[in-house]
Amino acid sequence: MSSETIGINQGANEHADDPANDSGAGILIVVSSPSGGGKGTLIKRVLRTVDDLSYSVSWTTREPRAGEINGREYHFTTPDEFERMRAGGEFLESASVHNHLYGTAWSGLEATKEGRDIILEIDVQGAASVRARIPDAVSIFILPPSFDTLRERLTARASETPDNLALRLKNARAEVEHYRDFQYVILNDEVERAAGKLAGIITAERARASRNAHVARRVLTTFGADNSKV
Ligand code: 5GP
Repeated sequence: MSSETIGINQGANEHADDPANDSGAGILIVVSSPSGGGKGTLIKRVLRTVDDLSYSVSWTTREPRAGEINGREYHFTTPDEFERMRAGGEFLESASVHNHLYGTAWSGLEATKEGRDIILEIDVQGAASVRARIPDAVSIFILPPSFDTLRERLTARASETPDNLALRLKNARAEVEHYRDFQYVILNDEVERAAGKLAGIITAERARASRNAHVARRVLTTFGADNSKV
């Protein structure tokens, strides 16, 4: 499975306004933030409120947390199986994050063939890999309002060991520096407002002229336009 078989626009297509983006394939929407930045909550909301949007379930070698279900939050796997998949070219991207492996499998992106857009909830390294391989992807960074808020959220979640919590907070300092690499930044100070912005970005990206030439062509021919020129 590859980007070609699933129809994602890939290659040296650096300009989002390039007409080559108009294939009718779905958009890959990359959402990153430090652990505890609240991206999971925002993504759940837009999946409920925005049509034709799917979520890519990642693969990971970390242990499931209480309440997590294999195949829903993640495909939980062993380091050996993860390495076998990686060697077999099954991942669009993969990275080591907070001492565990995480990856996005091509097989989870099939829905883009039917024109559905897909959200990838991945770390800043994974986001850089996706941008390099799929320049047409849309990238969004969720910024927590402050370091203290992030620490409070992560501590309240009580999902990590003290060592892992410390590691996640340490890594967060470097991760937030990467906000500049993203096309959009959303300050997650109030969930409703931030979710509204995320939905708004998806709506705007869908309306780009460059993604809608096939629609415009259909309409323009009803105006008598020469199909070879529109
Ligand atoms: P958590 O263990 O809290 O679920 O996730 C830890 C970090 O790994 C988060 O920043 C999350 O976005 C990131 N992550 C989850 N899935 C993937 C993936 O498929 N690829 C990459 N690169 N990062 C991921």
